Amino acid sequence: MERGGIIKNDISKSPKTGDWAYSKPEVDKDKCIGCETCVQYCPDACIEMQTHNSQLTTDNKKQKKVADIDYDFCKGCGVCAQVCPVKAISMRK
Ligand code: SF4
Ligand code: SF4
Repeated sequence: MERGGIIKNDISKSPKTGDWAYSKPEVDKDKCIGCETCVQYCPDACIEMQTHNSQLTTDNKKQKKVADIDYDFCKGCGVCAQVCPVKAISMRK
């Protein structure tokens, strides 16, 4: 029977693709609804969900999970901006 495997990389040894990126995505953390679509589509797996204090709520203590991009490894492909259902990601040069 064939079995799958998980390859674990030592990220400290990975080339930092963000060094040569032409454009970079910026997340509007108040607009992000935390759906994680961008996390699933990012080809470099450089988006993680982080806790963020929402500015749009009247309750300042309310927190939510939003997309956070690791620019060391983002290559600026723009896929995340394309798939975000609420257009919370903008590409900047
Ligand atoms: S621009 Fe591309 S590599 Fe960078 S976070 Fe978005 S999907 Fe990932
Ligand atoms: S796809 Fe858009 S709304 Fe969903 S987590 Fe990513 S930035 Fe947030």
